[in-house]
Amino acid sequence: MKRARLCFLLAASFLCHIAAGQSVTSQQLPGQGQYVLLIHGGAGTILRSKMTSGKEKVYREALEAALKAGYAKIKDGQPALEAVQAAIRIMEDNPLFNAGKGAVFTHGGRNELDAAIMDGNTRKAGAVTGVTTIKNPIDAARAVMERSEHVMLSGKGAEQFAKQCGLTIVRPKYFYTEERWQGLQKAIRDEAPKTKVGHRQQQPGTGFPDYKFGTVGAVALDRNGNLAAGTSTGGMTNKRFGRIGDSPVIGAGTYASNKTAAVSCTGWGEYFIRNVAAYDLSALMEYKSMPVKEAGDAVITKIGSSGGNGGLIALDRNGNAAMPFNTAGMYRAAITKDGKITIFLYND
Ligand code: ASP
Repeated sequence: MKRARLCFLLAASFLCHIAAGQSVTSQQLPGQGQYVLLIHGGAGTILRSKMTSGKEKVYREALEAALKAGYAKIKDGQPALEAVQAAIRIMEDNPLFNAGKGAVFTHGGRNELDAAIMDGNTRKAGAVTGVTTIKNPIDAARAVMERSEHVMLSGKGAEQFAKQCGLTIVRPKYFYTEERWQGLQKAIRDEAPKTKVGHRQQQPGTGFPDYKFGTVGAVALDRNGNLAAGTSTGGMTNKRFGRIGDSPVIGAGTYASNKTAAVSCTGWGEYFIRNVAAYDLSALMEYKSMPVKEAGDAVITKIGSSGGNGGLIALDRNGNAAMPFNTAGMYRAAITKDGKITIFLYND
């Protein structure tokens, strides 16, 4: 009898696991109610067993540098938007991450960058997509938000606008890195079997190929209680046909509202767009009064059930943080108002 019950429980938990896709990692963070800035550097197959101590150190230092740059703004009494932009800029300039310098290559051998930023206080937002010459796409996203009447600008038009705004313009080859170039060659070799649009076929729940990891994001809470969120990415290695992911899509990869939370997502963008992930988290908080952590877990569980992978960072206006993901790992870091830093890479 006991054995039958045990079998039933095991079967039920197995079925739940399948239904939910990959399991969600979402630890209890130590400084709840105290956080002012969270960042991520992408979700993917980040395994302790595959990491050398040297590589881990470099990632930790990079995350810490970005966190400190953003924290300096908060400490100085500047708006959350400034903190988000400062943290993301640092990661865009670091070739470790798939954003700015270090962005992945398209099938055609280009680097096409996307970024978005949103102010939780005014719910104004700005985004750029498919840009190839703007050194820091997060700066361009902010300029769209503050210096145009639009929300999203793409390609050549976005570049022209950035130039007019006096932002730093570079030659496309500035974004070249040997590692990403080799990543493209590998993706092309591994490509078959393909879907119609040239993306690698992936069975739900089997994990996503790391062709799209290293996106960066930040969410911040300033002294006035205002929230902001931002995300920047090179998108997905081997992407074609002007593919745009979730990162620059307001409500999908990036969202902020002072009523609920600031959110930045990372992972398989198509699933985050279809699930309107970042806004879904906000809606769960607003309409169902869910705490931010529960809402974050629910969103990533839903992404998993639909066959997608990735993670997100979310911060509410009381300094509560959530960092759930369903990949093997996610580069992520948080800082409290007293400057206490925590950095995580893996799922333990
Ligand atoms: N979400 C991004 C995209 O699909 C990629 C990532 O987060 O790694 O473009």
